[in-house]
Formats: sequence, structure tokens, C-alpha cells
Amino acid sequence: MNDCIFCKISKGEIPADIVYEDEKVIAFNDLQAQAPTHVLVIPKKHIASLNDIEEDDLELISYIFDRIPKLASKLGIKKSGYRVVNNCGSDGGQSVNHIHFHLLGGRSLQWPPG
Ligand code: 5GP
Ligand code: ZN
Repeated sequence: MNDCIFCKISKGEIPADIVYEDEKVIAFNDLQAQAPTHVLVIPKKHIASLNDIEEDDLELISYIFDRIPKLASKLGIKKSGYRVVNNCGSDGGQSVNHIHFHLLGGRSLQWPPG
């Protein structure tokens, strides 16, 4: 947990292009953007993955999902639409073990994912 890159970003220990921050949540541009808008929305609290959410975290997760449309509006993609993605575990393609929600938009996104 101590060497978690997203914990370090949320504590300001390593830089990120932050687009939103409050006491519970931080959102920043993905280093390798896959769409014109590609933001990672994370809780500041370290939760490793969707599999690791506990009962006490449910309010925080709800809060994140309440923030996402507001953030989409701020980023100018609310009306055009967007996709929220959580990659969980190895087959899900999760590469950073701090739960995060990809917010993607600014172009028409394909389906299904690869
Ligand atoms: P995952 O593959 O776990 O769903 O997503 C991790 C995402 O984090 C990837 O899209 C990757 O580009 C992004 N990422 C990894 N390290 C950093 C970093 O240090 N800074 C930022 N801004 N994004 C990162
Ligand atoms: Zn972390």
C-alpha cells in the first residue's frame, strides 16, 4: 500500500494532471489517454480493487458515482456521452492495484472491448 502509485498521487507525492479533487476523491488525466478525455477517478482511501470493497466503503463508492456525471459535465462530455470502466484483476486488465474508474469520452467509443 505504501508504494501504491495512486496513493502517492492522492497525497501529492508524485505529480499528476489533476482535474478534480475534494476530501474523498481525486481525478486526474491518464498518462496514456485512450480517448480525447480519459480521466481516472479514484478514492483517496486505498482500496485495492472492486473485489476489496467492504460494507464501510459503500458510501464512498456511491459518492464517486455521484461525482462522475458532474465531472463529465465539467469536462464537456456529459451531453455527448461517456464510458465508465473498472478493470478488475488479471483478466480484467487491472494494472494498478488501487481501485480506479476510467472516465472516457470525446469520441464515439467502440463496443465490445477487446
Ligand atoms: P488499469 O489498467 O489498472 O485499469 O488502469 C491503470 C491506468 O493508470 C492506465 O490507463 C495507465 O495509463 C494509468 N497510469 C499508470 N501509472 C500512471 C501514473 O503514474 N500517472 C497517471 N496519470 N496515470 C497512470
Ligand atoms: Zn493506493
